[in-house]
Amino acid sequence: MSEVAVSAIPRLEDLEARVGDLSGKRVLVRTDFNVPLDHHDDGSVEIVDDFRIKSALPTIEWLTERGATVVTASHLGRPKGEPKPEFSMDPVRARLAELAPGVELLENLRFDPGETGNDPAFVERLVDGIDAYVNDAFGASHRSHASIVGPPQHVPSAMGRLLEKEVDVLLGLRNKPKHPFVAVLGGAKISDKLGVIEALLETVDGIIIGGAMCFTFFAAQGKPIGDSLFEPDMVDTCGELLAKAESMGKTIHLPDDITGVDATGAFATFGSRLPDGAIGYDIGPGSAAAFTDVIMDARMVFWNGPMGMFEDERFESGTRTVAQAMAGTKAFTVVGGGDSAAALAQFRLDDEVDHVSTGGGASLELLENGDLPGFEALRKGSS
Ligand code: ADP
Ligand code: MG
Repeated sequence: MSEVAVSAIPRLEDLEARVGDLSGKRVLVRTDFNVPLDHHDDGSVEIVDDFRIKSALPTIEWLTERGATVVTASHLGRPKGEPKPEFSMDPVRARLAELAPGVELLENLRFDPGETGNDPAFVERLVDGIDAYVNDAFGASHRSHASIVGPPQHVPSAMGRLLEKEVDVLLGLRNKPKHPFVAVLGGAKISDKLGVIEALLETVDGIIIGGAMCFTFFAAQGKPIGDSLFEPDMVDTCGELLAKAESMGKTIHLPDDITGVDATGAFATFGSRLPDGAIGYDIGPGSAAAFTDVIMDARMVFWNGPMGMFEDERFESGTRTVAQAMAGTKAFTVVGGGDSAAALAQFRLDDEVDHVSTGGGASLELLENGDLPGFEALRKGSS
C-alpha cells in the first residue's frame, strides 16, 4: 500500500456528484455498531454504551436528508461465521429505530463466514438492489472483510463523516506533526504495538512508555522486574528500540517508580528495580508527574494504552494522572485504543481531548502504514 492522500478518498459530496440525485436511492452504509453488551441471566441483552450508534448519525442524516433509503450493516462480537442469538442485531436495531427512524439494519455480518472470508458471492448479496455504498466503519477498515473492501468494486462509493474525521486527524498526526510531538504508549503487550512504535519513532520527539510493556524494556536494560507481566521474546527487540531511539536523538521516557504488590501480596511502591516476588501494576506517582510535564510541554500528543491495570482502583492512578494531563495540556490530543478510551470515559475526561478514535487496531495500523485496506478499496472504486 502506498501513502494515501486524504483528498483521494471520495467523500459524500463526491458520491452525490457521481450518482446525482440520491432521492429514492438505496445506500448501503457499513457502520461500526459493535457496541458493548450486557448479557443478563434471563437471556435479555442490554447495550452498555450507544456511542458507536450515535457516531454514525451525521452520515445517516446527511443521506436521509437527501431522500436516500439507508441500509446499515455491521458486525457485532465474534459469532465466528454462524448465527448466534446472543450476537443478534436486535438490541442495536431497537436503539437505532429511536435515534434514526426508518433506517434499516441488516443482520450481524459475521453470522456469514463470507464476511471475514471476503467471499465474492457474499459481496454480491450485500450489494443486491443497492445503488451506492458508504464506509463509515473506521474500526473495521483495517480488515479486508467483504463489507469493507467488496462493495466499492460494484457500486459508487465514498467514506462517511466519521471516517473522514478519523482520516483527517490521524493522517494529520502522521504527515503534519507539530513539535514537540509525544506518543504515550501503554497497555499489556509490546508485540501488538511494535510496528506503530517503529513508525512513530520517525515522527515523534519522544515516547512515554507505561503499562505492562515497560517491564519488557526494563528487562532489556537488565533491571529485575520480579513477577511482573513481560514478553521474554521481545526483550531483544526492546533493547534495539532503545538503541535506535538514542541514535535518532529521541527520548524514550520509562517510569522510574512503580506501584504494585510485594511478595506477600500487599500494595507497595518500588523504584524501577523490582524485588523478587513483586508484581508491578501501575506507574508510580513520581513517573506520573514526570510524564505530565512532558505532555504539558508538547504541542501534539497521541495516547494508546493505559499506564497500568486501571480496572483495579488501587492501580488506576497512573492512568488517571496521564488522562488529566491529556485534558489539561494545550497540545492537540488524540486517543486511540479501546481500553484507553474506556479509561478516559471512566474518568469523565473523554470530552476534554481533541479526538477519541473509534478504532483501536485501525488507528494504530493507519499511523503505522499511512493507509488501510478499506481506504484503498474506496480509492480504487472511484478510479
Ligand atoms: P488499548 O485497548 O488502549 O490499546 P491494551 O489492550 O493494549 O490497550 O491494554 C490494556 C490492558 O493492559 C488493560 O486491561 C490493563 O489492565 C492492562 N495492563 C496495563 N498495565 C498492566 C500491568 N502493569 N500489568 C498487567 N496488566 C496491565
Ligand atoms: Mg485493548
